[in-house]
Amino acid sequence: MSGLKLRADPIIAIDGPSGSGKSSTARGVAARLGLKYVDTGAMYRAMTWWLLEQNIDPSDPLAVAQRCGEPAIHITADPDNPRILIDDVDVSELIRCPRVTEAVSLVSAVPQLRERLVQLQRAECVAAMTAGTGIVMEGRDIGTVVLPDADVKIFLTADARVRAQRRAVEETARGNVTASLDEHAGVTEESLRKRDALDSTRPISPLVAAADALAIDGSHSSLEEVIDQVVAAVRATQGPDA
Ligand code: C5P
Repeated sequence: MSGLKLRADPIIAIDGPSGSGKSSTARGVAARLGLKYVDTGAMYRAMTWWLLEQNIDPSDPLAVAQRCGEPAIHITADPDNPRILIDDVDVSELIRCPRVTEAVSLVSAVPQLRERLVQLQRAECVAAMTAGTGIVMEGRDIGTVVLPDADVKIFLTADARVRAQRRAVEETARGNVTASLDEHAGVTEESLRKRDALDSTRPISPLVAAADALAIDGSHSSLEEVIDQVVAAVRATQGPDA
C-alpha cells in the first residue's frame, strides 16, 4: 500500500473545533503530500483584526456586514510558511492575540462576511487545481459548505481538556501568557468551550461533521499518528493505479 503513488491533486477538507490539532495536521499532510494549505480560521481572524483596527464593534452584525467587503486579503498557501495579509499588512502573528480570539466567533457568524471568505477559499482551491496540485483546507465548514465535493473529509476532535492544554502550551511559547500553565489551561478551556458553543449553534454554517466525513479523535494520538491516518484515508480513496 505505502508504495503506491498518490494522485497529485487530491482535495482534502479538515474540520473540527478549536485546538483539535487541525492546523498542525493539515499543514503536516500538505507538506508530506506536496499540496497547498489553507487555514480558513486565519482568514476569519484577519477580518476580525481589521474590524477591530477600524473600531468596528464585533458584536454589531450590521456594521460588520457593511464593512467586511473593504479590505484586500492575500494568503500564501504554502504549508512551510503560511502567511496572511490584510490591506498589505502581514497579520500572521497579530491574529493570534487574545483580543482577536475573543471576538472572532461573533464576527464569523455574520453571513455577508462568510460569503466573502467562502468565495476566496473556493478561489484558492481553483488556483491550486489550475496549478496542477491538490489542497488541504481546514476550518469549521469546509466539508459541509466550502468544498462539499472534497475527495477526503476529516472531522478531527479531541477532548476539551487536552485541547486546552495544547493551546496553553502554544500560547505560553508565543509569550502571550503571564499565569502558570495550569491556570492558563483552565482559562483556555473555558474560552474554547465558549467559542465551540458559538461556532456550533450559529444558524449559518455551524461547526458540524459532514455526513461523509471520517471522524478522528486525536486526544491520545501523536501528531504524526493523526497525519498517518489522514494520508491513509487519502490513499483509500485512490484506486490501485493511482
Ligand atoms: O481555527 P481557528 O480557531 O483559528 O478559527 C477561529 C474562528 O474562526 C473559529 O472559532 C470560528 O468562529 C471561525 N471559523 C469559521 N469557519 C471556518 C474557520 C474558522 O467560522 N471555516
